[in-house]
Amino acid sequence: MKKVEKIIIAGGGTAGWMAAAALGKVLGKAIEITLVESEEIGTVGVGEATIPSMVFFHKLLEINEREFMRETRATFKLGIQFENWRKPNHRYLHAFGVTGKDCWAAGFQHFWRRGCELGVAGDFGDYCLERRAAEANLFSHLPNSGLNYAFHLDAGLYAKYLHKFSERFGVKRVEGKIQSVSTVESNGFIEAITLESGLRLEADFFIDCTGFRALLIEQALHTGYEDWSHWLPCDSAIAVQTESTSAPVPYTRSIAHESGWQWKIPLQHRVGNGLVYCSKYLDDDSAKKLLLDNIDGQPLMQPRVIRFKTGRRLQQWNKNCLAVGLSSGFLEPLESTSIHLIQQNIIRFLRMFPAGGVMQSDIDEFNRQAEFDIAHIRDFIILHYHATERDDTEFWNSCRTMEVPESLRHRIQLFKDTGRVFRDGNELFDDSWQQVMIGQGLMPAHYHPIADSMGKEELQHFLAQINNNIDYTLATLSSHEDYLAHYCS
Ligand code: FAD
Repeated sequence: MKKVEKIIIAGGGTAGWMAAAALGKVLGKAIEITLVESEEIGTVGVGEATIPSMVFFHKLLEINEREFMRETRATFKLGIQFENWRKPNHRYLHAFGVTGKDCWAAGFQHFWRRGCELGVAGDFGDYCLERRAAEANLFSHLPNSGLNYAFHLDAGLYAKYLHKFSERFGVKRVEGKIQSVSTVESNGFIEAITLESGLRLEADFFIDCTGFRALLIEQALHTGYEDWSHWLPCDSAIAVQTESTSAPVPYTRSIAHESGWQWKIPLQHRVGNGLVYCSKYLDDDSAKKLLLDNIDGQPLMQPRVIRFKTGRRLQQWNKNCLAVGLSSGFLEPLESTSIHLIQQNIIRFLRMFPAGGVMQSDIDEFNRQAEFDIAHIRDFIILHYHATERDDTEFWNSCRTMEVPESLRHRIQLFKDTGRVFRDGNELFDDSWQQVMIGQGLMPAHYHPIADSMGKEELQHFLAQINNNIDYTLATLSSHEDYLAHYCS
């Protein structure tokens, strides 16, 4: 039972610097924190779309939002527009807000479903403020978190911003390549890392933020990996940044292609683009051509291929090592959840900080919670591929007809049969399940009888009232472009 007084963070990408910022802010006065990174190796260079939990993370750290947005050239994000996912030329927007008005016995979708039957309901998304604001290109901060939002940010600038932030709380940075990791023979705990320069750095606890290399958690501790590529078969991505050709929209675009999908992430000064694809159906050269044929502005760099294997590290916390970021596992960026999982691991670690020494009960609880988080997000991502009407390529046929995890199969069946959706404990997504299931074309066969308690006119009035309230709020918002210019000036 060694007290944890010295921590080494290995790696200085988004994960490393987010860990350094949070640990520094909370514990910088009590413990010694050192971050080791290698400029020569660099970072993965992608990861620019986030979800609303980042606003919460920044509040915990007391990060000034205007300053952060200015320095990272960030824009606001209200959701993700999915194009060609259900079928070619179809689109819907998965927004961060809540759709309509639930009643305690039944969710809004039941009332909407009856409204559709009576011919008095609009599109499901018409009843969500964030979705309507996104489509109208509007944004403003509203009182009481009245508009849910996240950010698109420049990942390189974000790491630099957090580096400066962390230094204020005493975090030390060491430049150099880690060459070896030494473990204690008796218990397998990590005792030190040695750099190419010969410098040996000892600590009581190590945070592995070395990206896909997973130098500590896997190469040194052989923790193991659960492969999920049979459910999420995309294994490659090509990324390229381009010049902006128009004002940034407040949403990410996700455009499905024949064997994968493309992202467009608008920042203040450029656009992040990429194609996620399955190498079984598309080779790298064809993928590169497909991406370059479907971008708007001039490329600012050579396109880069990135390989990955979808899955999770079997233990996020093993002995005296915690994996954060890509070293802990990978889910493709379809719902921008990786940075959220980074935050989750950091916050959970701070709540379970092993001050008096590493205890197996802490490790077990940490890993149980982390597995719960990622497995629910995994199911949500698989839903987009599986609940599709696309039958135009081998890739889509295979996704549509594949066996999915039992947890997801049950959720889809329950929705199709009854329109019911239940949030499982503290899982990340809530209203999102309805939005994406309906967006992908699933329509419940029945609705809750409480929706029948409203007559046609009453239901029409109820739906119109929600719409009118949204119209009223939309009229108070600014254009996203104007708001950014003012907020970040
Ligand atoms: P990296 O950025 O790879 O950093 C690893 C660090 O370790 C670097 O500093 C490197 O120099 C250092 N390092 C490695 N080896 C050594 C060594 N031997 N010695 C010293 N230092 C070393 N997430 C989202 O939330 N939203 C998105 O939109 C999104 N899009 C993505 C798109 C793609 C194609 C991919 C692959 C990922 C995406 N992600 C996204 C995930 C996101 O990019 C990562 O979660 C995030 O960037 C964190 O990466 P990291 O810090 O773990 O790894």
